[in-house]
Amino acid sequence: MTEDFDIESMLVHAGVEREPGAPLAPPIVATSAYISAGPPVAARAYGRDGNPTWTALEEGLGQLEAATATIFASGQAAAMALMLSLASDRSRIILPNDGYYNIGRLADRLSPFGTTPVRVDMLDLDAVRRELAAGPAILWGETPSNPLLNVADIAALADLAGAAAAPLVVDNTVATGVLQRPLDLGATATLTSLTKGTSGHADLLLGSIATRDEAIVTSLREWRTLAGGIAGPFEAWLALRGLKTLPLRIVRQSENALAIARHLAGHPRVRAVHYPGTEPATLDLARRQMPSGFGPLLSFELDGTADDADAAVAAARLIAPATSFGGVESTWERRARWASEKSAPPSLIRMSAGIESIGDLLADIDRSLGG
Ligand code: PLP
Repeated sequence: MTEDFDIESMLVHAGVEREPGAPLAPPIVATSAYISAGPPVAARAYGRDGNPTWTALEEGLGQLEAATATIFASGQAAAMALMLSLASDRSRIILPNDGYYNIGRLADRLSPFGTTPVRVDMLDLDAVRRELAAGPAILWGETPSNPLLNVADIAALADLAGAAAAPLVVDNTVATGVLQRPLDLGATATLTSLTKGTSGHADLLLGSIATRDEAIVTSLREWRTLAGGIAGPFEAWLALRGLKTLPLRIVRQSENALAIARHLAGHPRVRAVHYPGTEPATLDLARRQMPSGFGPLLSFELDGTADDADAAVAAARLIAPATSFGGVESTWERRARWASEKSAPPSLIRMSAGIESIGDLLADIDRSLGG
């Protein structure tokens, strides 16, 4: 569908072939190869080159960001293909010092091949400018960041990156393309772990890159075919199904998360709350950058020890103790239980707000925290 409909309308119809007799629900095409002889038809000869169910999902994801989307087996696989596509001739990759820790660990793996990771505070634009001046680089932002939910200024980062001829990547996983459109603010590419809110049902792993730069699309697809980090057709189909309700889900989740963050801010057992919708220093920026909601993810520091935080997480009857985020079900975890997670204080609980009733969620939180 190429017409200029609102995104809520386009996502519901994405991937549907409007021909007489075509299925209203796009099919799962499970195949490793296609009938073909002679010169192979692009993306329809071997299963690693292309799949109609990927194409249907990529259509919807592309509409979401007015760009071309390329899907991969996970967010990490998508990030790796993008890093490899952008790293050649660039000696540095500048990352946030509080971003998703496994993206940082992945970037560390580039060092032996000539691209050195550098960590900065992405809210400190002078520091970003200094690092960009130090040599050819990729600027890799993440906003809101996971797990501290810091909000970086995408347009300002894009200006700095542009002046330094560096591509700006924005990890858009927390906000999703419904709440935030980094490409419109000057980013070169976005990374989305579809595992989270974009698919929204905690039943798959997938990732995607969206960009308006066709040379990057070509490179990503070559890496996908050659490295083989491809999506399973069933996962792609589930994600397409989830995409139809993303605008509804993410708004409801954002409302719940905001109500929870406000509630926790006045809770006697809570030392600090991290949420774009309640952080005074960046609230105006967050409102500009995420005009229809601040996302499902928040975190808070319990006034207590790591054991106290573990006990609170275990005490919940409704909120599920689990990692990941963005699903319709509320989840939480003590974030520093992951040994490689360096940015989380010991008693930090990261919570993903689902679509349950807010009354039930607040009661479950109060019961679990005690106080
Ligand atoms: N980016 C962010 C911000 C994430 O939180 C995650 C996973 O938690 C990823 C990327 C990686 O995605 P995946 O787990 O789908 O590989």
